[in-house]
Amino acid sequence: MIESLNRVEISLSALRHNFSLLKAKAPDAAVLAMVKADGYGHGMSECARTLAAAGADCFGVAEAVEGVELRKNGIDRPVFIMAGLLPEIIPALFDYRLTPVVVDDSCLETLSREAVQRGQEIGLHLKVDAGMGRQGCALSSIGGIIRQIQTLPGLSLSGIMAHFPKADDPDSDSTTEITAAFGRRLEKVQELLPENLVLHLANSGGILYFPDSHQDMVRPGISLYGYYPNGEQGKMNAEEPRLQPVMRFSSRIIQIREVAAGTGLGYGHTFTTSWPTKIAIIPAGYEDGYLRCLSSRSQALVHGQRVPAVGRISMNLTMFDVTDLGRVKLGDEVVLLGRQGDEEITADEIATWMETISYEILCLFGNLNNRVYV
Ligand SMILES: *Cc1c(COP(=O)(O)O)cnc(C)c1O
Repeated sequence: MIESLNRVEISLSALRHNFSLLKAKAPDAAVLAMVKADGYGHGMSECARTLAAAGADCFGVAEAVEGVELRKNGIDRPVFIMAGLLPEIIPALFDYRLTPVVVDDSCLETLSREAVQRGQEIGLHLKVDAGMGRQGCALSSIGGIIRQIQTLPGLSLSGIMAHFPKADDPDSDSTTEITAAFGRRLEKVQELLPENLVLHLANSGGILYFPDSHQDMVRPGISLYGYYPNGEQGKMNAEEPRLQPVMRFSSRIIQIREVAAGTGLGYGHTFTTSWPTKIAIIPAGYEDGYLRCLSSRSQALVHGQRVPAVGRISMNLTMFDVTDLGRVKLGDEVVLLGRQGDEEITADEIATWMETISYEILCLFGNLNNRVYV
């Protein structure tokens, strides 16, 4: 079978390394591994299989359709549906034993009716907005919602969760304050809380920087895939052993050209050569997630050395200036993300060029290209 010259490599051993490092950070908590967005671009089912074998207790996705795919791929641990609960989705939750995260009382009656009809009980987790200012019920309303869950047949409350807005900042008080506010509110409704209730708050930032936030279960995402939630800063400050990037994105040289000084390169001639220049062309462009805004900003690795992108990145073609390299030849590997020789380009570095965060780079590259597991 013929394959694309653009290739995203996923290192399952790096994924396992990151899992055990995070597990060691929160040894007493269960792990809900976030595999939404097709495992942050790394492949949801492949990652879930590896993480399950490594000891992940359960998985988190956004919509139910992702949970169904995990089930069809043989993942049998609990799968949490974090976003996208509407009445029409509810039968699939029962068909595929998916765990709903409810954010208010709007779905409770439909959930209860379906449970009663099927003669089943469904455990649900309640998401509170303890300070994130996004999805969830107000902290002050949890008593009322818990009572409703308890009066409706077929429903049981298995957990309560919240999400942090600033856990990527080790210096912010926000995470500690939210953890405390969450705890105080739960104390007020203590007599309503079932036994074995699972409390969970911590994303990667919580796990790495705020041990008090670990509670009964932690929900790592970006850190599983080898990146610190606060980017290069987090990596620099981290003790050894460190998280290892799981993804590598490479392409191949499909043409080498020597052009004269004063040559305008590509659409709009946004770059004109100042001296005789050797250009290497790869068959990757914005269609492959190597976005146009990286034009004349990014670098890649060829023979373990950094080379700058020149001219506009187009849909399927990008040019690099390889004048300073010795013998480049057709078919040579060009690394857009990851390590080659002693050099490395990280998703944090690309994120800086693109004015975004590593999360977006991984989703873009991973979900738009052919993935290979190594
Ligand atoms: C995505 C997500 C996480 C993981 O966050 P990271 O910063 O990637 O670790 C945790 N909890 C919830 C609810 C999420 O949606």
